[in-house]
Amino acid sequence: MQKVSSLGTKLIIMEKLEHIGIAVRSLDKANDVFSKLLGALHYKTEVVESEGVRTSFFQLGGVKLEFLEATREDSPIAKFIEKRGEGIHHLAFEVSDLKQSIEQCRQKGFELINDTPKAGADNKMICFLHPKSTAGVLVELCQEIDAISSSSH
Ligand code: ZN
Repeated sequence: MQKVSSLGTKLIIMEKLEHIGIAVRSLDKANDVFSKLLGALHYKTEVVESEGVRTSFFQLGGVKLEFLEATREDSPIAKFIEKRGEGIHHLAFEVSDLKQSIEQCRQKGFELINDTPKAGADNKMICFLHPKSTAGVLVELCQEIDAISSSSH
């Protein structure tokens, strides 16, 4: 990955599609179905207690699939499934400087669900943009935690 040191002048804030988040009722069932479909096993499962989710990840080329199962009734995933059923929940874009990207999104008029980065699954700091400002698509911005600590002064 390229390292961009200049601040403020960078116009492109999304580096790549990092993963697609999919809400499911049963993580075990989704893992079965998708290992059959993709011909590969998920490479990890992880609980993010603060978000009330259990996740599993599949790697497919340069993109990951993140399956999300609610661990409690007030989990955002439980609420999503109740309203809209199982299915694609969010698109996650990798950024090289999460705080700067959050600021740029704010300046461009996107509504943030959380405006300070929070810990997500897969060793990432994350932030969500509200779907009502992004054409109905829940958008996650994410940055690898290691990349944050190695680039901070
Ligand atoms: Zn995600």
